[in-house]
Amino acid sequence: MLIGAVEAGGTKFVCGVGNEKGDIIDYTSFPTTGPEQTLYAVYDYFSAYNLQALGVGSFGPIDLDSQSKTYGYITATPKRAWTNYPFLQMLKEHFSIPIAFSTDVNIAAFGEYTFGAARDLNSCIYMTVGTGIGVGAVVGGDILHGMSHPEMGHIFVKRHPRDSFSGVCSYHGDCLEGLASGPAIEQRWNEKAYNLPVQHQGWEIEADYLAQALMNYILILSPKRIILGGGVMKQTHLFPMIRRKLDFYMNNYIQHPLLQELDTYIVPASLGDLAGLKGGIAFAKQFITRNPKTTSE
Ligand code: ADP
Ligand code: ZN
Repeated sequence: MLIGAVEAGGTKFVCGVGNEKGDIIDYTSFPTTGPEQTLYAVYDYFSAYNLQALGVGSFGPIDLDSQSKTYGYITATPKRAWTNYPFLQMLKEHFSIPIAFSTDVNIAAFGEYTFGAARDLNSCIYMTVGTGIGVGAVVGGDILHGMSHPEMGHIFVKRHPRDSFSGVCSYHGDCLEGLASGPAIEQRWNEKAYNLPVQHQGWEIEADYLAQALMNYILILSPKRIILGGGVMKQTHLFPMIRRKLDFYMNNYIQHPLLQELDTYIVPASLGDLAGLKGGIAFAKQFITRNPKTTSE
């Protein structure tokens, strides 16, 4: 069975084809330009394959309320050409196969859950710390959707006592993404994040905010594992710092064997750049298994 996947990011689109076991047969990527030009490239790439289904993870926010008139639209993105763009509808018009649709971070979470760092468990969260901060949750084997999709990158955290940076989120200023995304680090210190030395005080502040966020997610969702990826997490020294801070903030409030082993509870992403494609394939497979007679979602 051939399944297609699209990881539609704000900077680049990755399209790939694989089988239901998650083996990727081929993939390509190209920059995200205007919607028409970008979708033309998507159609062109997949025209060589006879697909059974397509799994799509899109940058957002997107409307995932199936009752809504704008279901499947990209909504409030700062990327003007894509604002209020009927992404899923355009794909449906072109492909007459089932299409499973969610956010880019949700399908990456589903990829890590199905084939990667949480494949032995039935729940996890996946957080990417890069240009933005996005978090996807898998709960009981399903991507967590509600009225739409969660936006866990935009939660509020308490301010680090030595941080007076105002934050970069264009909606909330000093939300988590505003304080701890890659661009936040770079504006606060006026330096590329990958150039900050390991001993720089910025990393302690970064670990503090991320640990606070993880504590909130643990208290609210009780995930069995937390997977961290994205450009900023290439700074692997952050992992032990985040674990220590989390332990401090948690103060033994939740007593569970999984939390006694933070080295295996908070882990790096294991699928790297392929998490989105593999997750898209797994998500499409789940969709057609559950909806055998539906031609599109
Ligand atoms: P995106 O979020 O756009 O998909 P990334 O996850 O690679 O892409 O995030 C890019 C951001 O991550 C950059 O803006 C930069 O701030 C930060 N970043 C990338 N590489 C590193 C690194 N090695 N160390 C620290 N920060 C990095
Ligand atoms: Zn925000």
